[in-house]
Amino acid sequence: MRGIAGRDDGARPRLQKGRTLVDLFEHQAKELFAEYGIPVPRGIVAHTAEEARAAAEQLTGRVVVKAQVKTGGRGKAGGVKVADDATDAYEKATAILGMDIKGHTVHRVLIEEASQIAEEYYFSFLLDRANRTFLAICSASGGMDIEEVAHTAPEKVAKIPVSPITGVDRARAREIAQAGGLPQQALDGAAELIEKLWAVFVDEDASLVEVNPMILSVDGQVKALDGKVTLDDNAGFRQPEHGVYVDKAAEDPLEARAKEKHLNYVKLDGTVGIIGNGAGLVMSTLDVVAYAGEEFPGQPRPANFLDIGGGASAEVMANGLEIILSDPSVKSVFVNVFGGITACDAVANGIVSAFNLLESRGEQVTHPLVVRLDGNNAALGRQILADAGLPRVELVDTMDEAAKRAAELAAVGA
Ligand code: GDP
Ligand code: MN
Repeated sequence: MRGIAGRDDGARPRLQKGRTLVDLFEHQAKELFAEYGIPVPRGIVAHTAEEARAAAEQLTGRVVVKAQVKTGGRGKAGGVKVADDATDAYEKATAILGMDIKGHTVHRVLIEEASQIAEEYYFSFLLDRANRTFLAICSASGGMDIEEVAHTAPEKVAKIPVSPITGVDRARAREIAQAGGLPQQALDGAAELIEKLWAVFVDEDASLVEVNPMILSVDGQVKALDGKVTLDDNAGFRQPEHGVYVDKAAEDPLEARAKEKHLNYVKLDGTVGIIGNGAGLVMSTLDVVAYAGEEFPGQPRPANFLDIGGGASAEVMANGLEIILSDPSVKSVFVNVFGGITACDAVANGIVSAFNLLESRGEQVTHPLVVRLDGNNAALGRQILADAGLPRVELVDTMDEAAKRAAELAAVGA
């Protein structure tokens, strides 16, 4: 299920014009909410049915057993079940643990005190890229059928732009809740929750915070019964405590290694390794290689995105090559450089030093490398590479021709 906030499924960080996003589990989102004073049910995470029973005993009374997977629609998939007591919680947890929900295996469950629900609402804050603003989405018709509502009765789902300058105070939060059609008795509680959720959104550098359902309980309280949070990993430098959210199990090992070396690398599923300087150039290189690959058997595609940035020192080039060459699916490498502030001769020297550095680390470069140098001092750069006589390095003048050659080499399994 795609949330109506447009988040897609999957736990891996995604390539989105160079942005990496980190999704939180529901229990992590709720722990974060609680730090901001947002009312959430008491809950305990369990990894086994025994732990689930102990958690239910501790919470006493009826509990909800909730699959912790980074995808929506758990309720409909049978991943959310109310249990009458600890024994029942044990049984429900047994059924839910190990379950496959849209390709995500359930390894842990959240045991929560059960809420008595009077009404279910929908609320989210997100980054509205198309309109270059933030957006609040609010509806009195929340719960598991919100997508259906958004589709068949869009007038019931209020979408309200939020200025980053003025933000959301209590009064604005109340207006948003009203626009969403929430009833009078829920407005105060919802306004408080929405105001605090805005603080989460801004202070945590999130690109999405979603609460569905936000409930009005039988005793008149407004609570967050579910939580989705997507953090912007690019803000990681000022959010050191977000490190705990990076899902090591879901992270690609090469991406993890690249991250340690501060490389802007994203693993893709093709066979042509790509290195370039500048995110825009690398993005277009991916396109050109994918296009060129269509002509060759097996239709080779890019194996990765790697932007070594403006500097392109020998060390960065060596680290980049090392990551790419340790990807077993890589058959050829395309180094696409446009000399700017760092001119092509410096990049060429970087490539030569990278080979030496790799050799000193005991790594032989056995893959063919297609290098295209253009821009400042391109001729000098080519000369340096030609003089170095590096094995398996081919110089090609244009980006299109170089892409074609790299794809061809990958196709023959070079
Ligand atoms: P999702 O399906 O992955 O979005 O999981 P949710 O956490 O939103 O739960 C799905 C549905 O389960 C909610 O919309 C509620 O109707 C129901 N639910 C969740 N927690 C409780 C609870 O504490 N009590 C009751 N009665 N129902 C609950
Ligand atoms: Mn939900």
